[in-house]
Amino acid sequence: MTQARTVTLPSGAKVPALGQGTWHMGDHPARRSDEIAALRRGLDLGLTVIDTAEMYGSGAAEELVGEAIRGRRDEAFLVSKVLPSHADRKGTAAACHASLRRLGTDRIDLYLLHWRGSVPLHETVDALESLVSEGSIGSWGVSNFDVDDLEDLPDGAHPQTDQVLYNLTRRGPEYGLLPRCRELAIPVMAYSPVEQGRLLGHEALAAVADTHGVSPVQVALAWVLRRDDVIAIPKASTTSHVEENHAALGLHLTDEDLRTLDASFPPPTREQPLDVL
Ligand code: NAP
Repeated sequence: MTQARTVTLPSGAKVPALGQGTWHMGDHPARRSDEIAALRRGLDLGLTVIDTAEMYGSGAAEELVGEAIRGRRDEAFLVSKVLPSHADRKGTAAACHASLRRLGTDRIDLYLLHWRGSVPLHETVDALESLVSEGSIGSWGVSNFDVDDLEDLPDGAHPQTDQVLYNLTRRGPEYGLLPRCRELAIPVMAYSPVEQGRLLGHEALAAVADTHGVSPVQVALAWVLRRDDVIAIPKASTTSHVEENHAALGLHLTDEDLRTLDASFPPPTREQPLDVL
């Protein structure tokens, strides 16, 4: 099997650099069994970080994840998210307990604030710390936080990750956010790492894929995974897609590949606001 690559979180937990997303899973009954089989195949292959959220299908994705990990809870590193509209003291706890019920477990390994809303950050962080103390979550983090949002976290607060939009067509974070996260020792979780499939037809990707005899999706994932402090969480609904994505861990992009990709997907030359999907 392809060698597992890990990223170490501030807590010391080592998690695989390639995980699995679940947005839109559970939306269509006809796809349900394939989606569950895909997540389970991912677990077999060591893609044990499973990312979900109370928002996805209004809980349907969490229920599907719960079914996929039944009997295998301890193999998974579960990530879920609280909506900003729920992120006050009481609401965060209620949202977390509802997520736990849907997931069929008593612990979420990493619980994220989905994006910043109007609740003061110190209140959300207090609520998250209380959930850590009671054992409902192992740790907490943030999502869609730009550099200034990270600065606004209360003193002493240390998120385990910032989950942000990052892929070949969304390189903005390379200018300010990724370097800042590295300084703060916060690994980044790259969401939509293949731009929801939209980038897969790109010529430059095909050219690099051809030189290695691999597929464009594998090049797109290997590119995100070239950094040692980034976790990628592609969503794949079939076992064959999961297997293809897993094989990206074995692809090493050369300097020439990176130059080819830079020519078509230029790195940022100035600060730009964080994109969100
Ligand atoms: P993505 O992972 O970039 O792309 C998913 C799309 O790529 C799906 O249509 C999938 O098709 C396709 N795909 C995956 N593997 C493939 C393969 N080997 N060959 C061809 N197509 C393939 O987009 P995403 O779902 O938006 O992002 C990933 C995860 O990040 C989400 O599911 C969610 O967990 C998380 N996310 C978080 C936020 C946030 O605000 N924190 C926002 C967006 C996403 P199939 O489904 O048919 O396999």
